[in-house]
Amino acid sequence: MIRVAHLSKTYGEVTVLKDISLSVAKGEVISIIGPSGTGKSTFLRCLNLLEQPSGGSIAVDGIDLLDKKSDIPRIRQRMNMVFQSFNLFSHLTVQENLTIGPVRLLGINKQEAEQKALEILKLVGLAEKADSFPDELSGGQKQRVAIARCLAMNPEIILFDEPTSALDPTMVSEVLAVIRRLAKDGMTMLIVTHEMDFARDVSSRVLYMDEGLIYEEGTPQQIFENPQKEKTRAFINRIR
Ligand code: ATP
Ligand code: MG
Repeated sequence: MIRVAHLSKTYGEVTVLKDISLSVAKGEVISIIGPSGTGKSTFLRCLNLLEQPSGGSIAVDGIDLLDKKSDIPRIRQRMNMVFQSFNLFSHLTVQENLTIGPVRLLGINKQEAEQKALEILKLVGLAEKADSFPDELSGGQKQRVAIARCLAMNPEIILFDEPTSALDPTMVSEVLAVIRRLAKDGMTMLIVTHEMDFARDVSSRVLYMDEGLIYEEGTPQQIFENPQKEKTRAFINRIR
C-alpha cells in the first residue's frame, strides 16, 4: 500500500533522514520508536508532504507522491495525520471541526457530513460534545475529536505523531482505546509513540529509528524481547 524507497531529508547541512525504505501492507499497524531527535516526526511529515523530502521516493498504491503533478490534498485525505497538539479549529464546534473538511474538500453535502460526524463522535465516545467548543474539552477529549476529525475524511491510512504525549496520564488510556479499536477494525496506521506497552500490544511491526535510519525492525516480540542491535537494546532497557 505504501512503498518508501531511499527517502532522505536534510536541513541545510544537517541530515535528519539518511536512507529510509519501508513497505506497508493494508491493515498493518506499525509503531515507530526511538530516541528524541532521530527523525521520527520528520519521517511522518515527509509521508504527508508537510516536509519536502530531499531524495528517494514515496508511493501509495503505485501513485508517486513526489510527482509535481500529484494531488496533495487528495493524498492527505487518503493518508491523514493526527498530531501531538490536536490542532483543532478553536472557533468551530466539535461537530463543525468534523464537517468542514468533508464539505470543503470532499464536496460532501452538509447534512450528510453532519450525520456522519455524529456517527463518528459516537464511535469515539463524544456524541454529547458535538456542540461544545474545543476549549471546553479535556486534553483526552480534544485528542479524540482530532482522531474523529481525521476519520471524517475517510482515510485509508492514519499517521499518528505521539498522540498521547501532550496528555495527562489519566487521559492517555481513553485515546489509546480509540486507536486500539481502529486497529481491530483493520485501519492501516503508523504510530510514533513512547507508550511501549501499547506498541507491544497493538503493532504488527515495530520500527526502531536511530541515526536517521530504520535501525532495527521486527515484530513487537523481536524488538522488545530480543533486540539484535546494541543501541536498540540500550533504548529498550532505558525506557523499561
Ligand atoms: P522527538 O522524539 O523529540 O519528537 P523526533 O524523532 O520526532 O524527536 P524530529 O522532530 O523528526 O525528531 O527531528 C529530527 C532532527 O531534525 C532534530 O535534530 C531536529 O532538530 C531537526 N529538525 C526538525 N525540523 C527541522 C527544521 N525545520 N529545520 C532544521 N532542523 C530541523
Ligand atoms: Mg517527534
